[in-house]
Amino acid sequence: MPPVLTGIVLGVCIFQVAGLATTLYLHRALAHRAMKVSAPLAAVFRVVIWMSSGIRPRQWVAVHRKHHAFTDIPGDPHSPKLVGFLAVQFNNVGLYRRAARDADVVARYSRDIRHDIWDRLFLDHALLGVGIAMAAVWAGLGWEVMLVAAGVHVVLYMFLNAAVNAVGHAWGKAPYPNTAFNNQWLAWLTVGEGLHNNHHAAPSSARFAHHRAEFDPGWWAILALSRLKLVSVRHRDIRLRQARPRASTAASPAS
Ligand SMILES: [Zn+2]
Ligand SMILES: [Zn+2]
Repeated sequence: MPPVLTGIVLGVCIFQVAGLATTLYLHRALAHRAMKVSAPLAAVFRVVIWMSSGIRPRQWVAVHRKHHAFTDIPGDPHSPKLVGFLAVQFNNVGLYRRAARDADVVARYSRDIRHDIWDRLFLDHALLGVGIAMAAVWAGLGWEVMLVAAGVHVVLYMFLNAAVNAVGHAWGKAPYPNTAFNNQWLAWLTVGEGLHNNHHAAPSSARFAHHRAEFDPGWWAILALSRLKLVSVRHRDIRLRQARPRASTAASPAS
């Protein structure tokens, strides 16, 4: 296989693994406590996130919890209704970093997220993790594969995570009365995250698909990991924060 093609395939695979770790560990397990992850699997997720994105979990959790606390009202770190769709879609990382660097935000919203010796020695150092991953691919498959794979992964990860925040608060289906929207096409690309209206309606539920013709690949992964006793789900039913179904798609106060 030519190096460029190998790099594209590898980049897509890395993106999928990083997306799985992001939605299952950072989002559903840490930020919302919708499930518990066993210690060995948590260690794997932490290393995957470190080497694929350099994200510090307590920062990600703080920014995300603040988004739920101030959804689409002043205080939301990345609302397209406040700063515009293009600003979120194309500068999601900048908006994230501005909020993540606010020590008060992290202290307030992530006080329950552990910060242990592994963070201090390794996981807090983003360039080290990403550098080790790139060096390993370079050593095993060559610099061309490494460059293409890194490029494909970074573009997909940044663009699609931004789309969850931008598209997910701009248009789509809205079965529940909140300001987020469901997009199944985005859910296929983001391990279920595109079902964002459902998620805002029931943030403590690990399952994002609520209705027929909705599919959450992340939930399928959770079921498989649950059978292997690697995760335990807080509750398998859907527990809505707001029980009344939405009559129209007009915006309403955040959930
Ligand atoms: Zn949201
Ligand atoms: Zn959430």
